[in-house]
Amino acid sequence: RSVTGNRGSGQEIRVSFEFFPPKTPHMEATLSETIRRLNPLGPDFVSVTYGAGGSTRDTTRKTLEMVLATGNTPAAAHITCVDATREEVDAVVREFAALGIRRFVALRGDPAGGVGTRYQPHPNGYQNAAHLVAGLKAFGDFDISVAAYPERHPESPDFATDIDMLKRKVDNGATRAITQFFFDNDIYERYVERVRRAGIYIPIVPGIAPIHNFSALRNFASKCGATVPDWLADRFEGLENDPQTHALVASAVAAEQVFDLVDRGVSDFHFYTMNRPDLVFAICRLIGIRADKPVSELNAA
Ligand code: FAD
Repeated sequence: RSVTGNRGSGQEIRVSFEFFPPKTPHMEATLSETIRRLNPLGPDFVSVTYGAGGSTRDTTRKTLEMVLATGNTPAAAHITCVDATREEVDAVVREFAALGIRRFVALRGDPAGGVGTRYQPHPNGYQNAAHLVAGLKAFGDFDISVAAYPERHPESPDFATDIDMLKRKVDNGATRAITQFFFDNDIYERYVERVRRAGIYIPIVPGIAPIHNFSALRNFASKCGATVPDWLADRFEGLENDPQTHALVASAVAAEQVFDLVDRGVSDFHFYTMNRPDLVFAICRLIGIRADKPVSELNAA
């Protein structure tokens, strides 16, 4: 393979990592270790998710502080508008901006009942993600990413409605879209063609989900409307009690997906890390993204 990741000349690949705020001291320790392992890979930015209705306001802030403490990686805060007034959302934006956050991932969020529950905008809130993007832009010159759905959002009646919403987000100031995860690169490519035909030219960064647990992933995917191809199920079949082979297959599958996307002209990738370092670290190595220190030093620290 001729990709060189961040190691010099050749086709450059940039990565970003997504973390979620930990719920327990044990999860916090795991995340801290994950940040320590992944930060030396030099991600473009790392993002921290935000619970609908402000449920993770404090833990998202603490996680952002953990990332900022590394001193060299830009942090992006996710922010949602579901079940919150504009004043509440604006107060969180102000709080995160005071930490030094200049990047946001602007999202609507899902209602408390979870995916599938009918969304009702808060009467005094931002109505949807496009409205939220406009609100963020009114605050300052933030770098704003939004969500995109190569297989359509589950609530969307058709691609035209879905892409129209993406267009509204871009018209209001979003400069990057990060996709829901997917496994069939043809679906992503067809989606990007549709998006470009609609006059949207921002980067549509693929969201890559390393598969830590295939059964859990399949359940989650069915709720998000993401297709799990038969060939993928076949690769993990029978590996439920064989974690080592499962992990090896998972890193090969993700690297293969990224290589194929690179061949199709993609250079930026967003990894859903699930706060776990090993798979993402291995996948990055396969695609040529190397740490600025030897691996032995990283493991020993
Ligand atoms: P929007 O862009 O407002 O709308 C999503 C879709 O709903 C539209 O594309 C459209 O198809 C449909 N729709 C909206 N309004 C209408 C209408 N009036 N009529 C018909 N169809 C309509 N959730 C969290 O809670 N916290 C997070 O940190 C988080 N991070 C995420 C990061 C990424 C990269 C992605 C892809 C998703 C994330 N989510 C997160 C999930 C997200 O909140 C949900 O997918 C939510 O259901 C939609 O949010 P959105 O910003 O895409 O909404």
